[in-house]
Amino acid sequence: MKSKLRISPLAWALLAVCPLLSAQQAPSGTEGLSPSHFDGQSWWKHVKFLADDKLEGRDTGSRGERKAQKYAIKQLKNAGAEPTGSNGFYQPVKFVSRQIVEKHCSLELIRDAKPQALTLGEDAIIGTRIMPAPEVEAPLVFVGYGLKVPEKNYDDFAGVDVRGKIIVIFSGSPAEIPGALASHYQTAAERWKVLRDAGALGIVSLINPASMDIPWSRIALNRAHPTMDLDYPEFNETEGAKLAVTVNPASAEKIFAGSGHTFEEIVALGKDRKPLPHFPLAASLAAKTEVIVNKIESANLVAQIPGSDPVLKNEYVVLSAHLDHIGIGQPINGDRIYNGAMDNGSGSALVLDMAASFKKNPEKLRRAFRRSILLVLVTGEEKGLLGSKYFAAHPTVPPQSIVADVNVDMFLPIVPLKLLTVLGLDDSDLGERVREVARSMGVKIQPDPEPLRNLFVRSDQYNFIRHGVPSVVMSVAPEPGSPEQQIFKDWLTQRYHAPSDDVDQPVDLAAAAKYEEIVRALLLNIANGEQRPEWNRDSFFRRYAEPAKIGQ
Ligand SMILES: [Zn+2]
Repeated sequence: MKSKLRISPLAWALLAVCPLLSAQQAPSGTEGLSPSHFDGQSWWKHVKFLADDKLEGRDTGSRGERKAQKYAIKQLKNAGAEPTGSNGFYQPVKFVSRQIVEKHCSLELIRDAKPQALTLGEDAIIGTRIMPAPEVEAPLVFVGYGLKVPEKNYDDFAGVDVRGKIIVIFSGSPAEIPGALASHYQTAAERWKVLRDAGALGIVSLINPASMDIPWSRIALNRAHPTMDLDYPEFNETEGAKLAVTVNPASAEKIFAGSGHTFEEIVALGKDRKPLPHFPLAASLAAKTEVIVNKIESANLVAQIPGSDPVLKNEYVVLSAHLDHIGIGQPINGDRIYNGAMDNGSGSALVLDMAASFKKNPEKLRRAFRRSILLVLVTGEEKGLLGSKYFAAHPTVPPQSIVADVNVDMFLPIVPLKLLTVLGLDDSDLGERVREVARSMGVKIQPDPEPLRNLFVRSDQYNFIRHGVPSVVMSVAPEPGSPEQQIFKDWLTQRYHAPSDDVDQPVDLAAAAKYEEIVRALLLNIANGEQRPEWNRDSFFRRYAEPAKIGQ
């Protein structure tokens, strides 16, 4: 799962983390499971390998990620999956990495010609997802949510002159914009299109304290960790951008001083997604930045299990998961390795386990599998969904032959599986198929209960969606109002993108096995259906399947 911000370990170092179960104790039993292609054990074995300290957190392009790739290829070969990359199982991907040299950087608010320094790390951080200009100084203007959503006739830039200025936004969206639309227009690519048209030079993001996944201290902790981008001109989405800054909510009043408005006022409106005012701020922002740029290489892995139908086998149902995680970072409780057991050792392990399950049941397979299954283990997800962006733009099978993407990212089998959250539930007939499969296994489903977290655009399925491929992503969810909710909340606060997302955490093996069973049944449903999946008529994302309609 990609964080909204540059990540960030746990600065709860001083908080006692509850006593952890050992890996042996952790999994609960798998009794009473049916039907059973999975026992949870083989899945857990893969997770344990991928999240071992020896793999050093599988950072994109790292030694640890290469080890994970070698392991995955071995498992795929054992399962009889066929290489479908551009170089065997590999599809090489080139990246550029950017690392901030903070000691040579500065941020100053300038009011009445008087500079007020912002402390980097404490007050604000300079982002490197865009390539910052070495020096920039420009007036600040507050533009509310900073969104332009033509479908809703919504425009935070109407009547506001932002040319040559740095805009300040409150992250989030107004209630009048539905979740999927809001998520779409908050992606970097969409935002910068609007900013470029409006002539803005940079962006200062104020975090909505009500929707912070992780505390500021953790956001700031790994800011020196390099960010990455695809190293191909076609993917340069932030051309013209000179500066991107994120401000600690605790320091945000400094930005508003002298403007006649306060951050407190904005927070009060923003927490209920009310309309926000627009106004010039009484300050300019001056930034000096230095960035070290490097070239990095990694790869996606692509394999297939061919279908049985002479015609339909040329169509592919994608099962995707990201194999990378965030690597080695600032220590928390003395641990520097961000193992990424759930994020996304869990999803990668599922892909390997799934391949093996098809081999174990070949007779059923021959009868049941008409379309081919394409197994895609992408790189660079944590760097901004980069591996999947590359794959979706340059698939190693014909683009039109991809009928669906079932993405698995951090599905969190940390409680018994009774309820699944399904992102994309109402967007395509995949939703109906999930409904059917889940019902047959006694599992309830719900749409995204927290649309403000933008989860639908925060993992790899989004790149398939942008290329017109109906997609769905499911995760284990707590039943509303149950004590399980706290378990998920604690997991996000304490383990998400922290070294404690490792194999010494409680995991429910029966839930993992049941989840795998659902994914398997869904894949078969799609692979065997007479029709390929289709977007629902009223889905926002349908437009990408009909390129002529984009921009209308
Ligand atoms: Zn993640």
